[in-house]
Amino acid sequence: MSNKVEMLKELYPEDLYGFTQKLSEGEVEVLYELRKALEKHLDPIIAESWNKADFPFDEFYKVVEDVHIMNDPRLFEGRDEKYKASEFYIMGLYLELARFDASIATFFTVHGGLGFNTVLLGGNERQIEEFAPKIMSFEWQTCFALTEPDHGSDIAGGLATTAERDGDEWILNGEKRWIGGSDTADIIPVFARDTEDNQVKCFMVRKDAEGYEASPIPDKVSLRPIRNGHISIKNVRVAEEDRLQNINSFKDVARILTFTRADVAHIAMGVTAGAFVGALDYTKKREQFNKPVAGYQLVQEKLARMQSNVVTTLAYSSRIAEMQEEGNAQMLNSSLAKMSNSLHMRETVSLAREVCGGNGITLGSKVARFFADAEAIYTYEGSHEINALIVGRAITGLGAFV
Ligand SMILES: Cc1cc2nc3c(=O)[nH]c(=O)nc-3n(C[C@H](O)[C@H](O)[C@H](O)COP(=O)(O)OP(=O)(O)OC[C@H]3O[C@@H](n4cnc5c(N)ncnc54)[C@H](O)[C@@H]3O)c2cc1C
Repeated sequence: MSNKVEMLKELYPEDLYGFTQKLSEGEVEVLYELRKALEKHLDPIIAESWNKADFPFDEFYKVVEDVHIMNDPRLFEGRDEKYKASEFYIMGLYLELARFDASIATFFTVHGGLGFNTVLLGGNERQIEEFAPKIMSFEWQTCFALTEPDHGSDIAGGLATTAERDGDEWILNGEKRWIGGSDTADIIPVFARDTEDNQVKCFMVRKDAEGYEASPIPDKVSLRPIRNGHISIKNVRVAEEDRLQNINSFKDVARILTFTRADVAHIAMGVTAGAFVGALDYTKKREQFNKPVAGYQLVQEKLARMQSNVVTTLAYSSRIAEMQEEGNAQMLNSSLAKMSNSLHMRETVSLAREVCGGNGITLGSKVARFFADAEAIYTYEGSHEINALIVGRAITGLGAFV
């Protein structure tokens, strides 16, 4: 048996249909090393970090120093692509991160999914060369500032932040809300509407730009360590050379979202797997009436349902990753995968919480975090309803948004 098969058996015993076997040997090695680094640096403090609503920056950066999850040369073996690892590896990366903790996976997706894809799909050659390597090495932290206080689901038509051209510069005004990592990021892609042609464009606001202020939204009950910023943008000046040249309408933003929505489908899949393995482990150890609770029929039915949800979400994730790699994934595919995986995740975290009894609501058990964090994932990157409406429009030919 190859090293890869052995490593996968240890990493993902819940992958009963072998979806992860399509990962290359090098990709599995990186994920295996990532597991060790997560256990070493983040596992001892992650529950406390959640409790204190305090993102563990130092420990996170130790992990990405130990394992180069975006730019290890093994991820690029046999690929023409210089910046992006295979979509199948990206799926595996989200499985690994979200199975460990949803806040860590979310922090990564804001930087390495939303922000990074914005640069790759929206930047010209010079801009990609400037930003991408620094994002891949984590030298620069980035994020994605699209949502606004008054425009969430209707952002495509409603986006109200303005950009006015002034010679070689633009002047930005408006507000953004929920923007993960926006108070610590080095470069902030801000989406704004050009006052002249009314089209949505994207501007790379640099850290400490005058007129830019981001403050974390307090008192969240989901993804507590993540610093979701409320941003105020007052006469912020951005040079034309920092406007991403290939984003000239919301259609271009939608191309980015096709990728990032699939990333969130993967996060929902990883949370499903993490909640299931946490519950399985607990119920095998917890004894009532002189035997492990996992040995009772009613509990086994719930474990079987959770296991089934893991397989279903992995199936969606694997196929969307393949379609993206083939270059033929549409928004419909990402929306359906995100919608379905989130529904299965929500059922799984609930069942996992349930079979852990009272301990399932304390931070002593991993499933309590998954239970609370699933709610944010269910809503961000297109709520359940919005993704259902995208699917509904595609299958009926009838738009039902308004
Ligand atoms: C933890 C977290 C992290 C986030 N990170 C980011 C980020 O980094 N960058 C970023 O740009 N955004 C981010 N978001 C924003 C996220 O994408 C929005 O929350 C999401 O799009 C929903 O918008 P809203 O919260 O304003 O809800 P609303 O749009 O106000 O929706 C409220 C409810 O109404 C439903 N609804 C709305 N319209 C319809 C309709 N036509 N038909 C039926 N139902 C409808 C929605 O589905 C939802 O259930 C984040 C959000 C959260 C919670």
